[in-house]
Amino acid sequence: MKIKDVRLIPVKTRREDVDITNQHVIVRVFTDEGIEGIGEMSDLSHLPAMVFDIDSLEKFLKKILRGQDPFNLTKLEILLENLYTTQAYGYSYQCSNIRAGVDIALYDLLGKFLNRPVYDLLGGKLRDKLETCYPIFRQFHTEEVSRNIQIVERRFREGFSTIRFYCGANLEADKFFLQTLQEKFGDKIKVKSFDLSNILDAKTALRVIKRLQEYKRPSLVESVCNIYDYEGMAEVREKIDLPVSEHIQNCAQALKLINNRSVDIFNISVAYTGGIYSAREIFTLAKAAGIKCLIGTTQELSVGTAAQAHLGASFAELDYCCDPTGPVLYTDDVVKSRVKYEKGHLIVPQGPGLGVELDEDKLEKLKTSLSIDLINIPSAL
Ligand code: MG
Ligand code: MG
Repeated sequence: MKIKDVRLIPVKTRREDVDITNQHVIVRVFTDEGIEGIGEMSDLSHLPAMVFDIDSLEKFLKKILRGQDPFNLTKLEILLENLYTTQAYGYSYQCSNIRAGVDIALYDLLGKFLNRPVYDLLGGKLRDKLETCYPIFRQFHTEEVSRNIQIVERRFREGFSTIRFYCGANLEADKFFLQTLQEKFGDKIKVKSFDLSNILDAKTALRVIKRLQEYKRPSLVESVCNIYDYEGMAEVREKIDLPVSEHIQNCAQALKLINNRSVDIFNISVAYTGGIYSAREIFTLAKAAGIKCLIGTTQELSVGTAAQAHLGASFAELDYCCDPTGPVLYTDDVVKSRVKYEKGHLIVPQGPGLGVELDEDKLEKLKTSLSIDLINIPSAL
């Protein structure tokens, strides 16, 4: 089997609950056997630097993938890693997301060719579903608290009894939210994490976490300070009695976190690591270092979420509640039938491949053009 063509389709979807529209790129990889693999570069628009010129990228991917055997995953991953050396995709996260989109499509393709679910290519399925938590986004004003409590209420009715809480921008609003949450729901709602999204310095983070956990104790704290402040993170970890988690981008960063004793938990997701292939390397490192793991998210559509579900289904070292909730967060999706959730659990789709199917009409409806005003791709590509 040889790769015949690659197509990238940018789509736009709105989030429920918050007034945000996200851009994603659907990846279609076609082969001479008539089998198509689908992937997704997810949630590209929350930082303008992550947006790229779609035509140039498509040309670049066609150049490196056409004629290749998709079973040569290692070789293809090396070719994709070369993206890092091109000036145009210099942003590490942007680049990982591009790689992830193609990597997901390759796994889907191989699964479909073998008529097996993707998890069977990863060692087989250890679990049918992943416990997930619903995200409550960062509050900047106390006035936003009541809306967030309403969101918790509604999602609780839908089956989500665990939330993760983005906080750290307004301590008063955060305290008010947690206090109200506890008064209204008591132990019926659990807080998986205080997610500080790397916005604070270590000392401030420490103060904020200590203060907030008096109102509601989370299972862990995430991204407590600058992602490259390994020592600051270690200091926070040392001084609180909650596990510390961080998003993992690559093996080098994971090793630094291990060596500096910065974290207890690796937050692993395909958009950050650059796909399923590299995510598996991170799981192995975690196992060696005695680090716990969870599946994180950048808020994927059903294609990306399915990839995360297959990954999460197949690894023994999955210790904490997971994050992907894109399919219940977005008003629209690109598949015939969205990835399913039951009682706050993400159900691992059945294959072949990822177990989700593109809906051409929905794809056409959601199609957009990426905004590219900030980055110009050099003509060398
Ligand atoms: Mg996070
Ligand atoms: Mg500690």
